[in-house]
Amino acid sequence: MSHRILIVGAGLTGLALASGLHRRGLDPLVVEQAPIITEAGWAIGLSKRHLVALDRLGITGRERWGGYKSDRTLVFDGRTGVVEHVLEDSPVMFNRSNLQLSLLEGVAGLVRTGVRPSALTDHGDSVEVEFDDGRRERFDAVIGCDGINSWTRLQALGGPEATYTGTAELRFQAPNPDPGLTVTAVATGGDATLAYFLMDEGTKLQGIMFLHGPENNRRELTLAQLADRFPAVAGPLIPLMEIMRTTNPPSFYTNVRQAVVDTWVRNRVAIAGDAAHAMTTVVGQGAGAGFEDAALLADLLTTPHLSIPPALASFEALRKPEAQFLQRYSHGISKAMSVTTSPRKIFTSDPGTVSRADEPAAV
Ligand SMILES: Cc1cc2nc3c(=O)[nH]c(=O)nc-3n(C[C@H](O)[C@H](O)[C@H](O)COP(=O)(O)OP(=O)(O)OC[C@H]3O[C@@H](n4cnc5c(N)ncnc54)[C@H](O)[C@@H]3O)c2cc1C
Repeated sequence: MSHRILIVGAGLTGLALASGLHRRGLDPLVVEQAPIITEAGWAIGLSKRHLVALDRLGITGRERWGGYKSDRTLVFDGRTGVVEHVLEDSPVMFNRSNLQLSLLEGVAGLVRTGVRPSALTDHGDSVEVEFDDGRRERFDAVIGCDGINSWTRLQALGGPEATYTGTAELRFQAPNPDPGLTVTAVATGGDATLAYFLMDEGTKLQGIMFLHGPENNRRELTLAQLADRFPAVAGPLIPLMEIMRTTNPPSFYTNVRQAVVDTWVRNRVAIAGDAAHAMTTVVGQGAGAGFEDAALLADLLTTPHLSIPPALASFEALRKPEAQFLQRYSHGISKAMSVTTSPRKIFTSDPGTVSRADEPAAV
């Protein structure tokens, strides 16, 4: 089998797919618009099934990604300081930049950087792609792993554009002030949700505040001002408050967007990862879902006697329902967090059904 496959985008999904195909005997071409492939060292949480997908792709070297698995996650009602819910199965938090570099290592020779496709024509039995460096090449399949604003989705599959979810996110990082800490914690505060994760083998703490409201809401506030939204925090959240009030750690603000996409595949062109199912970050499943896409695509594209169009159609049929369920679920959790501070309601009911009427009386 000698399919020539183009992967657009060398993010986590594109590199994982390239690795999986390479290990199965195919050498795809990966084009990446950025001149250099880098990732910031924020935490990325992967649960068991995502790690299984990485195993299926043959991706090893996990011990170099600075992983940390908390004992459990305590979910506080931010207004009362009471733990109302406990999540027992924490994901492993890895360092994103270590993970990305490790994925790149095995397939660096397949990646062309500083290049974007500029036109794509499906001839039925092949796809002709023109690149912005003037080259023109033919492929048996094109897989757009080009992220939330996917060129492939917009050009070849008719969209849609990603839209704002109603939640912005602010992240910050600091050394872990308490080496005895083994739990993760979340505090729900109505119009804001606060959480932290331990990463880099427990030596660092990554704080996150989800800010529910219009785009750019509270962007002008300092971490110390945001900490004042949570006067009742308790237990392991107290050191986090201390960091927010007294230090000025590096931080990153983003308006969280998602794209719900009906068409993932047309003949020999498909999208995967965020290009197909960018979702809100509150349940931290996006990258893992991209790895699951990559594992299935690598299997289908290398199955003997299965031609490309049915392989890609099978990918869409098998992965889309689950990815769209995750999108609905994470969006539902995000919305529920914006209307109630009760962790029990947020995490144990169908999150899409929580409404303002469910909000407990203020304490
Ligand atoms: C703040 C935040 C926190 C998150 N936390 C988690 C978490 O804890 N756990 C988790 O599982 N997920 C998390 N996610 C989601 C996760 O980051 C994404 O789902 C994942 O990175 C998507 O990977 P991707 O490769 O599909 O897309 P991307 O990472 O967006 O990569 C796309 C790549 O394609 C390139 N590209 C784009 N257009 C073109 C083009 N036209 N030509 C060539 N190249 C192109 C881009 O430069 C980029 O390198 C988080 C997301 C955010 C924003």
